[in-house]
Amino acid sequence: MIAERLKTVERKIAEACKRANRKRSEIRLIAVSKTQPDEAVLEAYKLGIKDFGENKAQELKRKASDIKENITWHFIGHLQTNKVKDVVKVSEFIHSVDSIKLANEINKRAGKAGKKQKVLLEINTSGEETKYGLRDEKEIIALARFCTEAGNLELTGLMTMAPFVQDEKILRNCFGSLRELKEKLNRQGFNITELSMGMTNDYEIAVEEGATMLRIGTAIFGSRKY
Ligand SMILES: *Cc1c(COP(=O)(O)O)cnc(C)c1O
Repeated sequence: MIAERLKTVERKIAEACKRANRKRSEIRLIAVSKTQPDEAVLEAYKLGIKDFGENKAQELKRKASDIKENITWHFIGHLQTNKVKDVVKVSEFIHSVDSIKLANEINKRAGKAGKKQKVLLEINTSGEETKYGLRDEKEIIALARFCTEAGNLELTGLMTMAPFVQDEKILRNCFGSLRELKEKLNRQGFNITELSMGMTNDYEIAVEEGATMLRIGTAIFGSRKY
């Protein structure tokens, strides 16, 4: 089941790369395994997936300790400061940094763990009130600067979630504005390389718009059982 779904996802990514004149190797496919059992993670791992994404600190902690394979874990959910310690311990990337308070705590915990934590800033590109992430450009620049100067953080990218719609124009707008924001920040001296955007509903468009990290759950694992 997962094998067939993954094949379809890979074919669609390859086709989108072709349309956009991009290389598949520029893109990291993150299998979003939230709510999925360990067996599903292992099955995907055996099929060659090395990157997995979780959105709950406790579930990530549990899976990272129980699953012994050499997995690169990504934390993609909203993060509270009291859960930072557990997340820093096991995450290669934290995609959802949206405040100086949170960045400060991650920096502190990364220092204690003796690591440099790779982080992405979560940006609200859709304007939806229900979505997390920063919208104000001054705040974004201030947070980017904080991460760069903190000492134990490596600001690698920007992350966004598009609204759940089929309207291509809306999706391209969200992804395109994230790409433009990255370019703008880099013109100001930052060195941001990653664009974490694209989920089951919209990953082909995200590839066309420059995504370097796709966060795909349902299209790989099937629907989630809560
Ligand atoms: C659940 C989730 C995804 C994956 O969603 P699908 O629609 O199942 O692909 C991606 N990003 C974030 C932040 C998520 O919470």
